[in-house]
Amino acid sequence: MPEQCPNCQSVRIGKKNYGKKTAGVVGASAGSYGGYIAAATGGRVGASIGVAAGPVGAAVGGIGGALIGALLGGATGASAGVILGEVLDERVFDNYRCLDCGYSFSADPDSRDASR
Ligand SMILES: [Zn+2]
Repeated sequence: MPEQCPNCQSVRIGKKNYGKKTAGVVGASAGSYGGYIAAATGGRVGASIGVAAGPVGAAVGGIGGALIGALLGGATGASAGVILGEVLDERVFDNYRCLDCGYSFSADPDSRDASR
């Protein structure tokens, strides 16, 4: 994180985190879809394992497998989205804003001029 505003040298700097917020939501949605697929697969796998324990085992195995798949998929997608968003914030967007003069700038000095 930069320590000073490149425009007025103020140390009062805020972070916008647009990419993190957006990518987190997108990632969670993508993850939920992935989780849905995983849930379908997990349900099938759980059911086939449970079949050995009879009809009740098949039902319990199917529900358990589906739940685990959905939870894992959603969580994985959200964290992947947040990580991607952090990279976007640091590298692509002008993530920092000076609270004194309102100047927006990126943490990476190389991309600062290109993004203006
Ligand atoms: Zn400033």
